Amino acid sequence: MTEGIPERVRAVRRRIEAAAAACGRDPAEIRLVAVSKTWPPQAVAAAHEAGLGVFGENYVQEARDKIAALAALPLRWHLIGHLQTNKAKLAVQLFDLIHTLDSVRLAREIDRLAARLPKVQDVLIQVSLAGEETKSGASPAEVPALLAEASRLSHLRVLGLMTIPPYFDDPERARPYFARLRALRDRLEEESGIALPELSMGMTGDFEAAIAEGATLVRIGTAIFGNRP
Ligand SMILES: *Cc1c(COP(=O)(O)O)cnc(C)c1O
Repeated sequence: MTEGIPERVRAVRRRIEAAAAACGRDPAEIRLVAVSKTWPPQAVAAAHEAGLGVFGENYVQEARDKIAALAALPLRWHLIGHLQTNKAKLAVQLFDLIHTLDSVRLAREIDRLAARLPKVQDVLIQVSLAGEETKSGASPAEVPALLAEASRLSHLRVLGLMTIPPYFDDPERARPYFARLRALRDRLEEESGIALPELSMGMTGDFEAAIAEGATLVRIGTAIFGNRP
């Protein structure tokens, strides 16, 4: 289960460096979030041994048990799955960065819970660019008001945007979605005066295209851990 992880981590790192070089970016601007959902603590420990320090989880309860099992290691955890308000308390306790803020209601709840710890919770606004009703995320039209409201909350800090494009076999088809997320970020920064340095976009199948369009956080599972069980 942990077999091959060091080699795959090296290969992913090389691909990130090559993608950055191809578009003239500094590879240090691109941080790798290793998506460990469904994988046990031993797999995460092997990836850490291979040099990774930031892990992404989709489900708060799964993450809680894994984080507890790995408490001895200096790991950082990001929530990349949809967050329900009733799981926000645990999420604020566990995660350094929540990629999936998508409503004012959730922003207020995270702020309230973060104030009690106390901490300032870093978040990204998840944007749904495909207009699919089934996908979570705020629509581009909703984002300015959500950003304005979130930026008034003192225990929440919005660092940027995240998106999941529809799945395509050809990653070049995902690229316009990445470009749109960056353009939305640029416009929001201009209109609000709030710095939004982070763009969380790109997974195993399309991270090179995302890097070409400005990704600063790539969320990669399969290319590191193999096909999920
Ligand atoms: C599972 C998941 C990933 C990782 O997907 P891979 O294709 O395995 O790299 C990235 N982002 C999100 C939001 C996910 O749910």
